[in-house]
Amino acid sequence: MISSDLNDDGMYMEIQTAIRDLCSRFPSSYWRELDESRMYPERFVEALTDAGWLSILIPERYGGGGRSLSEASIVLEEINASGGNAAACHGQMYTMAPILRHGSEEQRERYLPEIAKGQLRLQAFAMTEQDSGSDITRIRTSAVREGDSYIINGQKVFTSRVQHSDLMLLLARTTKRENQSRSTDGLSLFIIDLRQAGDTIEVNPIKTMFNHETNEVLIRNLKTNSSQLIGEEGKGFSYVLDGFNAERILLAAECVGDGRWFCAKGAEYATHREVFDRPIGRNQGVQFPLARAYASVTAAGLMRRSAAGLFDAGHPCGPEANMAKLLASEAAWQAANACLDTHGGYGFAAEYDVERKFRETRLYQTAPIANNLVLAYIGHHVMGMPRSY
Ligand SMILES: Cc1cc2nc3c(=O)[nH]c(=O)nc-3n(C[C@H](O)[C@H](O)[C@H](O)COP(=O)(O)OP(=O)(O)OC[C@H]3O[C@@H](n4cnc5c(N)ncnc54)[C@H](O)[C@@H]3O)c2cc1C
Repeated sequence: MISSDLNDDGMYMEIQTAIRDLCSRFPSSYWRELDESRMYPERFVEALTDAGWLSILIPERYGGGGRSLSEASIVLEEINASGGNAAACHGQMYTMAPILRHGSEEQRERYLPEIAKGQLRLQAFAMTEQDSGSDITRIRTSAVREGDSYIINGQKVFTSRVQHSDLMLLLARTTKRENQSRSTDGLSLFIIDLRQAGDTIEVNPIKTMFNHETNEVLIRNLKTNSSQLIGEEGKGFSYVLDGFNAERILLAAECVGDGRWFCAKGAEYATHREVFDRPIGRNQGVQFPLARAYASVTAAGLMRRSAAGLFDAGHPCGPEANMAKLLASEAAWQAANACLDTHGGYGFAAEYDVERKFRETRLYQTAPIANNLVLAYIGHHVMGMPRSY
């Protein structure tokens, strides 16, 4: 651990200490073996659930931790800073917002206490589709009302953790795009109980460049009761948008965690590896990229703290949350490259973990939203330039 971490102001010491302790039971070798065998970190997720960390955003009255987003972000940051990968389980925190803010009291009572107790997992969010990509308003999965039910048909891609989840949020069209004056209207959000879906849902794993359980999901005539609709029919996109800021902030925290890991790992190696009779870190060609990455990670961490603070205070934080995601994913990637270069050939050897973390952290520039789209948001919504999409 690099001691002079400017983000480490002691405010969240209790959470940091607890997560560091928990993560110390799951060393790099644990994650490396899972990466090699492409297995899900079941033991780790169970430990995190049992300790209550995955339900920290659920209000206390439903049995959760009732903590702030700032605190939740510390949990994810520390997991990644320890050498682990929070992407295996962050879904539960990401998907919480629509139910908390827009779900009915009956839905909250039905699901949240069981999620808090670790008896149910809500880890999957099926939004992306092959033909629409980043243009979510063009998704084709449809939900057609029939009496008290909806019949859902469609195809989703990159639905992560669905094989390790009991519940899944799903975005579908309830009114055709051409019949709406605004393209964002007519989309609805559902809680799907995967345990009851039977063969109406087919899950086909997508192999990716790192160990991440993500899937194509085919939905054929899935009948779901209208009580599974979140909020009002046709308003689903606004509920998803509403959760974006929290998602961006949590993700930025994971990137900061990765960045810290790469900086610490790189600095340690640079200090101890001797070539030409001296530590390689004495060469500015090795030292400066790490120092620059450290500055970038620290700055991104401060932006993420600022965004989380605004979110927790109930203030608008779209620009800050988006900038935090952009800067943190880029800073983590900068640190990843500096760390890999520092390790020379050993950066490519699996036993050093650098190549694994390198593959893992690359995702954050693309998902859950591509950085180009973040830039388009900043350019248009924040700076007032013409809309590009
Ligand atoms: C490992 C993994 C896990 C994922 N998990 C989930 C999940 O759980 N649930 C879920 O719903 N989705 C998930 N996704 C999907 C992810 O959110 C999308 O991949 C991402 O939003 C980009 O969509 P796309 O892949 O269709 O790219 P596209 O939209 O096809 O974009 C391709 C490229 O074009 C660029 N581009 C597109 N339009 C513009 C524009 N107007 N201006 C500038 N550049 C543009 C993009 O920036 C990108 O670089 C996951 C993806 C991966 C890889």
